[in-house]
Amino acid sequence: MHQSLMLINGHDVPIDSASGKTATIYNPANREPVALVAVAGRDEARQALQAARNAFPVWSSTASSRRAEMLHQSARLVRERSDAIARLLTLEQGKPLKNAKMEVLSSADVLDYYAEEGKRNIGEWIAGPKSRSIVLRQPLGVAALITPWNFPVDLLAWKVAPCLAAGCTFVAKPPSLAPLAATEFVRAVAEAGLPAGAANVVHGPGVVVGAELVENPISRKIAFTGETETGRAIMASAAAHIKRVSLELGGQSPFIVCADADLQAAAASAAQRAFSNMGQICISVNRIYVFEDVAEPFTEELVRRAERLKIGDGMKEDTDLGPMFSLKQRDKTKEHVADAQKKGADLLTGGLEPEGEAFQKGYFFRPTVLARADHRMKVMREETFGPVAPIMKFKTLEEAISLANDTEFGLAAYVFTSDLKTALRAAEGLEAGGIGVNVNNVVDLQAPFGGWKESGLGRELGHWGLEAYLETKHIRLGL
Ligand code: NAD
Repeated sequence: MHQSLMLINGHDVPIDSASGKTATIYNPANREPVALVAVAGRDEARQALQAARNAFPVWSSTASSRRAEMLHQSARLVRERSDAIARLLTLEQGKPLKNAKMEVLSSADVLDYYAEEGKRNIGEWIAGPKSRSIVLRQPLGVAALITPWNFPVDLLAWKVAPCLAAGCTFVAKPPSLAPLAATEFVRAVAEAGLPAGAANVVHGPGVVVGAELVENPISRKIAFTGETETGRAIMASAAAHIKRVSLELGGQSPFIVCADADLQAAAASAAQRAFSNMGQICISVNRIYVFEDVAEPFTEELVRRAERLKIGDGMKEDTDLGPMFSLKQRDKTKEHVADAQKKGADLLTGGLEPEGEAFQKGYFFRPTVLARADHRMKVMREETFGPVAPIMKFKTLEEAISLANDTEFGLAAYVFTSDLKTALRAAEGLEAGGIGVNVNNVVDLQAPFGGWKESGLGRELGHWGLEAYLETKHIRLGL
């Protein structure tokens, strides 16, 4: 069985030498064991932080062009190992192998992107009457990178790459129940010639290992992706040392279909973004608002597309949707669907597990479409994190925008229309960090990604991602 080892100060930590215990990682498609991981305690987290602190002077003073060479090399290593890393990702998380491979390859692209972006950390020069001011941006120190299980490799790459490009060192804490692929990703990065201790990875429970990384004064920056409630707790404990935090938290993304939308394209987009990764995406389509006169054809097409998706073990080539990540996730999804039905929603398709021997052991669930949804229902107010698309009709664009904004979340929002004025009115009125107009994805490597309201703080990707690991210094020269 695969053994997932922690990496501290450039050394693999033998599985039985961690201060805690070991844990078994299970495949959500069949509940069979796939790997053994060390479960660390606070001691290992401290050792890793100390190693990152020791490596910081060397790494931060390495020329950005040299850092870039190593980041490109790490991207090459990730690509070379992408088949093996993707396989681990499917086995621990459930997503189809083709999607896992895309995720791993995309993480290599992130490393390449920041290899170059790191060279663009340029300063400023301000001429005063009797002085000159130089403004520098310097790496802020050791960062703790804490990530969730839904995209464990890509979301870690969004942190690792800018962190290293900026000249910072890090300790990564992947999700406890899916640490395998993320750990191999960090190992590939560390083997690209980095000084020992610049890249560390520790395993273990968030409330122990994660908490130490956040509380310990050695870390100067916490980059976190996960649930809003965890983000709230992290922000509160980071306040003790006034640490920099970036938080990418939960979402409840609305999808507005206007009267003049291309209904086929809208339904295809909604189906893809509501059901892929079994709805376990922070920018999933969670609530669909459709203009009343076009609701029927749109809904019919969405249902058709939901029913066409092939559910199965992610290791099989023709699988579109693997299992959900855990029983907990599936139970929550079922509970949200039942709540909606109790409050008057019509179940048009899905709503339960697929039948048959092949689905008995895994956490499978059928993609679900609900009509006549409204804002009393949990599916419209809380993050379901499951493959559920609830539909509500609207009469005017203002009503749709107001419904879309009726939430504490603000990560992504989508609008489908063929009219430029409608698109702009909606895009300007929607309260979210990313707006998709006639597209169902707001992630672009060169553009800022992050949430408004309780969906987060700070931005990742693009030059914003790099700035998140830099401190500003003003040097004033008297003349
Ligand atoms: P989670 O908050 O339970 O865990 C995320 C990570 O934090 C894990 O590594 C966990 O071990 C660690 N952790 C837990 N408690 C901690 C603590 N007290 N101190 C430090 N670390 C702690 O989230 P999850 O269930 O793994 O992921 C699902 C959530 O992530 C969803 O809410 C989803 O919307 C969100 N998410 C957000 C984005 C985004 O970019 N906004 C992207 C993906 C997922």
